[in-house]
Amino acid sequence: MKITRVTAYQLDMPLTEPYFLSGGRLRFEKLDSTFVRIETDEGLIGWGEGCPWGHTYLPAHGPGIRAGLEILAPALIGLDPRGLDHINRVMDVQLPGHPYVKSPLDLACWDILGQAAGMPLWQLFGGASATPVEVNSSISTGTPDQMIALIRKASQKGYRTHSAKIGGTDTALDIARIGAISAALPSGENVTFDVNRAWSPGTAIQVLNSTNTRDWVEQPCQTLEQCAHVAARVHNPIMLDECLHTFDDHLEAWKTRGCEGVKVKPNRVGGLTRARQIRDFGISVGWQMHIEDVGGSALADTAAIHLAASTPDENRLASWLCHYHLAIDPVPGQGARNVNGVATPPSTSGLGVVPDFNILGDPVAVFGG
Ligand code: MG
Repeated sequence: MKITRVTAYQLDMPLTEPYFLSGGRLRFEKLDSTFVRIETDEGLIGWGEGCPWGHTYLPAHGPGIRAGLEILAPALIGLDPRGLDHINRVMDVQLPGHPYVKSPLDLACWDILGQAAGMPLWQLFGGASATPVEVNSSISTGTPDQMIALIRKASQKGYRTHSAKIGGTDTALDIARIGAISAALPSGENVTFDVNRAWSPGTAIQVLNSTNTRDWVEQPCQTLEQCAHVAARVHNPIMLDECLHTFDDHLEAWKTRGCEGVKVKPNRVGGLTRARQIRDFGISVGWQMHIEDVGGSALADTAAIHLAASTPDENRLASWLCHYHLAIDPVPGQGARNVNGVATPPSTSGLGVVPDFNILGDPVAVFGG
């Protein structure tokens, strides 16, 4: 089987309401998503999506994907999409780094491999069944009362785990947010306080040692070294996210005792092939992992849910679904959706999601015959 054509589509996806991270210093109103369609000489077609969360969250941005495709897509024409490790080696030779560019191509190849094998992705990733995955809310930074109101709204939709976005230079406000949210949390529900790298190590230690919370704290500071410094001096388990890009970063996080868990996001690490390697490493060292994507429609969400569903219960934490923040649904009604607090991956072969051409519009680039 050979790849004959790669087609790219671009879609601006507005958020239903403005979203604030990292103590309010980062504001988001729409996401720039790139959809990739890979065709083969045997008629199988695979889909991928690459969608950075704006351009201030990670070293990644929407137009960068399209620029990178100009280099990578021609290099894949003629290759067998089922040879995923080879595909990734070719991409790494053609364009070192730039993991977020490779992710949609890697995903589309997994979609084709699954269809060729007659197996859903969760099965290719080693899962026993289409395990329902608990969903994780995302609570925008605000006053304690605003954040508690958002948690109540999420609880009513079945969410039992909440990612509350805090952080900033006002330590008293963060101490107040943590105290108020912990006190207001309904019994049986969990919260992670996601700082999105907004604290200096000194602020992190001061805030966390001024509260009684033992909840997860995510990405308290900018770098792995800073987070590891904090991890050794507080009582909370530490989750890492934005500072991890390569497999080596994860190895370093383990060696420095920088965390007890990580976010596994295909678009941040270069696709499902890399995400699966990191997931398997995480299992071997006993990490707990939220497996979800950086952003995107229900297509990108569903890819991550396939990987989450194939992960042992003891290593799997809840998955956030980006598509509930969007005012547009380019894969209408398809894929893993929140049903009473869980999302279940499709059991059709491959990814199990196909975008609506009427919503995608005309291609922005076509590579191959
Ligand atoms: Mg995070």
